[in-house]
Amino acid sequence: MTDTTALIERWVRPEIRAIDAYHVPPADGMVKLDAMENPYSWPPEMVADWQQRLEGAALNRYPDATAVKVKEGLRKVMGIADEHDILLGNGSDEIIQLLAMAVAGSGRTLLAPEPGFVMYRMIASFVGMGYCGVPLDENFDLDLPAMLAAIERTQPALVFLAMPNNPTGNLFSADKVEAVIKACPGLVVIDEAYTAFTDADHLPSLQHPNVLVMRTLSKVGLAGLRLGILIGAPAWLHELDKLRLPYNINVLTQVSAEFALDHFAVLTDQTQTIRREREALFSALAAMDGVTCWPSEANFILLRCAAAREVHATMKAAGVLVKCLDGAHPALADCLRFTVGTPDENARMLDAFKAALAA
Ligand code: PMP
Repeated sequence: MTDTTALIERWVRPEIRAIDAYHVPPADGMVKLDAMENPYSWPPEMVADWQQRLEGAALNRYPDATAVKVKEGLRKVMGIADEHDILLGNGSDEIIQLLAMAVAGSGRTLLAPEPGFVMYRMIASFVGMGYCGVPLDENFDLDLPAMLAAIERTQPALVFLAMPNNPTGNLFSADKVEAVIKACPGLVVIDEAYTAFTDADHLPSLQHPNVLVMRTLSKVGLAGLRLGILIGAPAWLHELDKLRLPYNINVLTQVSAEFALDHFAVLTDQTQTIRREREALFSALAAMDGVTCWPSEANFILLRCAAAREVHATMKAAGVLVKCLDGAHPALADCLRFTVGTPDENARMLDAFKAALAA
């Protein structure tokens, strides 16, 4: 055993050694439909205006520590009431980590329905919290008796409910969500990462004292900026803000986000197009023999087919990258997740999928 290995075994926590790092496959030159990005770029005149704004950014100075202008823009675009505060993160991933850090401690549990977003479980490990994944029912809705029993047993400090849920794409039933919120002794975070692709809006749930709502600019077309948004009662956000590293939202992100929020109609048009394309893609997939697909309120579609791993590999070899979820969770056996792209990308994805199924 080398010195390094011995040191790592002695000092790196076992739960960290046990996890695999979040894997991002190389995608150069591929039709990239694995990560729920918006496939559209900005009109050229908008790009030129943005570049001009960037020229005014001072990189020798730290950014505005509270990103006031970004928050003003978000308030307008998202209709956030004055009584609620906003906390920003380097992506909503960072916010999940802040939330977990705030409540972590011996015997504390983070609970989330499964299959769900993998970072909830990973971050629970990062901060030394217990994790309880509660299986969804056969329709990927909350299994309320199972949720209530798990809440009773683990008394979770923190619960995440992603709506729409990743990777299943659906919303959970409102009455079940309400029951979970009422039963939870701790904080319930409604993760609205995909809010742009659904009419559902969970800001009204902020009437509950134990609810916060999380959003992101990643899925509407600004994944490269890394800007996550937490909305809720000033008292909660005041505590969480103590854990936020100073200047976590860099100058280029702030300037670009302010600009993008001033031009949000462009992004909204793009998300409307993606919603229409989602329906076209769903109809095409639903008509295919041997393919089961689930209706989605997000910008991706979950489906099941025979030999999904081989199908995924064949599509990849043909230059189309989608997400293979086989092995990620028992309920996801032979499942793939297709992000909705441009009409041309979707056509190429469907061609590659059909060819892989026939191979
Ligand atoms: N929540 C959910 C449900 C997600 O699917 C994702 C990204 N896949 C995130 C949060 C994180 O998004 P980001 O860090 O880009 O804001």
